[in-house]
Amino acid sequence: MLDVLLPQRCLVCGAGGAQLCAGCRARLPPLEPPLCARCGAPTAWPVSRCRECAGRRLAFATARGAVAYDDGVRRLVAGWKERGLRRLAETAAELVAERLPRPDVAVVTFVPADEHRRLHRGHHPAERLAYALASHWELPCEPLLERTRSAQRQRGLPLAARRRNVAGAFRAVAGVRGTALLVDDVYTSGATVAAAASALRADGARRVEVVTFARAVRTPGVGLGRAPERPI
Ligand SMILES: [Zn+2]
Ligand SMILES: [Zn+2]
Repeated sequence: MLDVLLPQRCLVCGAGGAQLCAGCRARLPPLEPPLCARCGAPTAWPVSRCRECAGRRLAFATARGAVAYDDGVRRLVAGWKERGLRRLAETAAELVAERLPRPDVAVVTFVPADEHRRLHRGHHPAERLAYALASHWELPCEPLLERTRSAQRQRGLPLAARRRNVAGAFRAVAGVRGTALLVDDVYTSGATVAAAASALRADGARRVEVVTFARAVRTPGVGLGRAPERPI
């Protein structure tokens, strides 16, 4: 309820009025082609695999994000996830639906919450985003995954450790036979969505596409952004 009662400020620029002002909304950095066809990373020219995903066994067919994870988006996502500004899920869903094509899938699902985090936050951002997106795209949304064990934070772990950390962290709870869209809030290394997609594929999903609100973008020589990938 806090986000209803407190005076509202734009999380990106601080101007009074709305959690995301019209100017900042229009300026959220897009992820424009050319992109890696597989993982959605911006690339110099169109490629089927890029330096970020080449050689990795990825259980998802494609991953796409609506906005690049820059400092402004980081503040927005922090407000949404950590400060409980849950109406931002609808804003995020609108932006995704505006910027990404409607996927050709049978069902929408999401990376499941770690229960401790859900209790702490009182909401699960990926779930709310998935339901809002499914409503925009007029697709069914179902919880198809659960976690097999509790969390170790992903943040701060090197890439190889992130992958080890998430391998086998999910299992499917409902049969999925056709194609599925897997939704998460932020794509950082892709380790979390790859592990979740792997569980869907193991359960029979024919194809898994990934959509996130934001995507970390590597700048040459800098490496991955400081995106707070959720703990596993
Ligand atoms: Zn603003
Ligand atoms: Zn790639």
